[in-house]
Amino acid sequence: MMRVTDAVARLRESARVLAGSETVELKACLGRVLAGDVVSGIHVPPADNSAMDGYALRVQDWHGPDHALEISQRVTAGTPPQPLLEGTAARIFTGAEIPVGADVVVMQEKCKSDGGSVLIEVMREAGGNIRPKGQDIMRGATVLKSGHRLRAQDLGLIASLGIAQVSVRQRLKVAIISTGAELVEPGEEIRPGQIYNSNRYILEALIEKWGFEVMDFGITPDDPNIISEVMAKASREADAIVTTGGVSVGEEDHVKAVVESLGSIDFWRIAIKPGKPFAFGDVNGTPFLGLPGNPVSALVTALVIARPFLFDCQGIRHADVVPVRQRALFDMKGSGRQVYHRIRTGVDGAEIFKQQSSGALYSTCWGDGLAVQEIDVDIVRGELINVVPYVLFN
Ligand code: AMP
Ligand code: MG
Repeated sequence: MMRVTDAVARLRESARVLAGSETVELKACLGRVLAGDVVSGIHVPPADNSAMDGYALRVQDWHGPDHALEISQRVTAGTPPQPLLEGTAARIFTGAEIPVGADVVVMQEKCKSDGGSVLIEVMREAGGNIRPKGQDIMRGATVLKSGHRLRAQDLGLIASLGIAQVSVRQRLKVAIISTGAELVEPGEEIRPGQIYNSNRYILEALIEKWGFEVMDFGITPDDPNIISEVMAKASREADAIVTTGGVSVGEEDHVKAVVESLGSIDFWRIAIKPGKPFAFGDVNGTPFLGLPGNPVSALVTALVIARPFLFDCQGIRHADVVPVRQRALFDMKGSGRQVYHRIRTGVDGAEIFKQQSSGALYSTCWGDGLAVQEIDVDIVRGELINVVPYVLFN
């Protein structure tokens, strides 16, 4: 059996950026991936400005707390100031530009004013309460790198540079195919022997959350001709194909043979629990990932194995997930596979869900993450273990 890290490394070695680029309005860029660096054309802030409501003056014009300075102008945010007259102070507000000649702002709490003049009780050093031009970003600075997936704060930063359109990667088109003669869609009538298709909803939600475009190819029965037809269509329309089910060793598991006939396949038994059977290959040159059918296995392998590969195909730079340390509130013997236990974190540590069957999807909804147990390593209650909260897979 192949170790998870080796499987992920092999997948990622074969990954290529498959998505082209397009220009998108900044407003619509949340979750999109930069196709080039973002370089600032301006200084932010564009000019020295006041960090306080108060009075701007020259340090050298102040001669003690009893010395009144005439207020020669009033500078509000949004209007350009006049150069400061010597020996005077300017009334100034937060965010307003510092008048040429002033080198300090004293906060109004330290001043007494009758409106026409001001007494300054305590003086500060030159530069005090002034936010200098370029304090946040200097013109010419690269602020975000190609391959960065844009978050709320990144959109704000790009906006602060005055940039309204952004060159981003086109969304990776990912085909989802659910295989299994037993599957029916929620809302449909269920007959004996049938179950509802849950993998489709898991995978499509993940694909959407990751910012890719879902191409839904529905359910295929366990019929090689139909699977072949659907696969061929998916290979023409999508950048990558993800299937669930049909990759085990049963006689009704036809996915492998179909992929082999249309392209190539590597079938791996990965030392992961849940989720041992995993197929990787191509259908007419389109990358193919065959996930196991059991819903928890499908979820875990999608998060741990498929995600980094798809992120690479989308051109996302940071696909790595760094686990957090949590105290184990359970004992668990090690096994020959790396195990992803469904757990719930709290102030005391990570609690495990009793039912860890790969078919028991409720285990994933009860908790908020996965505890990672390495091969042949026991987990002893009270020790620190690696936990990956689901949100880290976002
Ligand atoms: P398979 O790998 O096709 O043998 O599937 C393994 C197990 O997962 C079987 O119990 C299937 O019924 C179940 N399964 C396969 N696909 C799905 C699906 N889309 N939704 C829910 N369960 C599934
Ligand atoms: Mg099946």
